[in-house]
Amino acid sequence: MANNPAHDIAVVGAGIIGVACALRLARQGLRVVVIDPQPPGHGASFGNAGHLATEQVFPIADVSILKRLPGMLLDSMGPLRLDWRYLPRALPWFTRLLLNLRAQPFENTVAGLRALNESSLAAWQRLLGDIQRSELLKVDGSLLAYERSESRQALEALQQRLHQQQVPVDVWQAGAIRETAPQLSERIQGGLFFPRTGHFIDPYRVVTALVDAAKAGGVSFLQQRIAGGQVQDDGVCLHTDNGPINARRVLIACGAHSAPLTAALTGIKVPLDTERGYHLMLPHETGRLPFPVTSLERKFIMTPMSDGLRLAGTVEFAGLQKPANMQRAWQLHRLSQGLFREDLSTEAATPWMGFRPSLPDSLPVIDQACDGKVLLAFGHQHLGLTQAAVTAEMLARMACPASTPAPDLPRRERYRLARF
Ligand SMILES: Cc1cc2nc3c(=O)[nH]c(=O)nc-3n(C[C@H](O)[C@H](O)[C@H](O)COP(=O)(O)OP(=O)(O)OC[C@H]3O[C@@H](n4cnc5c(N)ncnc54)[C@H](O)[C@@H]3O)c2cc1C
Repeated sequence: MANNPAHDIAVVGAGIIGVACALRLARQGLRVVVIDPQPPGHGASFGNAGHLATEQVFPIADVSILKRLPGMLLDSMGPLRLDWRYLPRALPWFTRLLLNLRAQPFENTVAGLRALNESSLAAWQRLLGDIQRSELLKVDGSLLAYERSESRQALEALQQRLHQQQVPVDVWQAGAIRETAPQLSERIQGGLFFPRTGHFIDPYRVVTALVDAAKAGGVSFLQQRIAGGQVQDDGVCLHTDNGPINARRVLIACGAHSAPLTAALTGIKVPLDTERGYHLMLPHETGRLPFPVTSLERKFIMTPMSDGLRLAGTVEFAGLQKPANMQRAWQLHRLSQGLFREDLSTEAATPWMGFRPSLPDSLPVIDQACDGKVLLAFGHQHLGLTQAAVTAEMLARMACPASTPAPDLPRRERYRLARF
């Protein structure tokens, strides 16, 4: 079978990354199968905040956070939480994170994020345009708002740093905010507006739209878990409970679950962990905001979607096994209180938790190994939705260098597996 496998590429993982890549690879004429034990889009890609966050070129941790870190981690309902029982497992990851805060690695991270983010919007417009689903993305900008006058200085400093990175940003005073988002309360004093950002009206519908297009283009979907595999002379063999699946190449795109298969196929142990995040979906709150609004002080985002307003955010270090603490999702509603003239309704609200796939240098792996038989696309942390379309273009170029059209794409060197 391995001498003549039915599949050119087996994509393991049907999140936004795997599905976007599968579609692009199929458009290069490759025979693609996507394998996932869950229906497509039921991992982190289901419930993210839907923000095309091209302005987020700085990793969430920097040296300024270090002093505040112990207090933040101890606050069980705070924006950043560590389950102390998970600390022994997380310690090597945290150590690497701290080492990455040194000047040179930090600059590498910023350059790597910036390169991906700069190409993200155009890549999404190409991808959604190709499948005639451009209505799923609104490019109406987003706002980072502040309430306390003490925050003004921090905001100005951020604006300068963003300006240095050529991120388009406008300073908005309270008056401009009242005009465009009249439902926000008087507490909002001003903010930074990012005109080249956007939001998806429903992140899950984005996955299903890509799946529909992929199926129409000949991609098949199998509901199976990949338990391991081997690289062979003429391809790869993947193990499922129902026997082996052979393909010429494999793409590992299992989000936060990508480390074991990467180790089995390449021998490299990636320090992948998860930053668990939560959302609370408020179905009775459509039309409250014209674009996503993030609160600088309260550290969460509110995104208007077709099915309501989504409150999302928080980072919890507790690994992949511990059940969700949905109190953290409900806490997002408490955080929203006072931000609107009239408080948000929780009627029929639904809480959710998902696993952000995070590497300690905040950059994804977008690469190939084992003579090109193993492709890798995972570790997109807080920005997997933003970066999915550009990741798919980079992957397609890697898999079919001759036949891929050539928009300017980020250089692959920054996202190598071999950095670990
Ligand atoms: C609360 C929250 C808010 C967020 N907000 C944003 C945002 O506004 N903007 C943004 O850009 N990003 C955001 N993100 C991040 C984004 O959601 C993720 O980076 C992205 O969804 C990762 O996509 P993925 O395809 O790599 O992983 P996933 O969507 O998690 O998909 C991985 C898939 O792999 C499958 N899988 C796992 N193990 C196996 C196996 N052994 N065999 C086969 N399949 C397997 C899983 O079942 C899953 O379907 C947010 C995340 C969270 C949690």
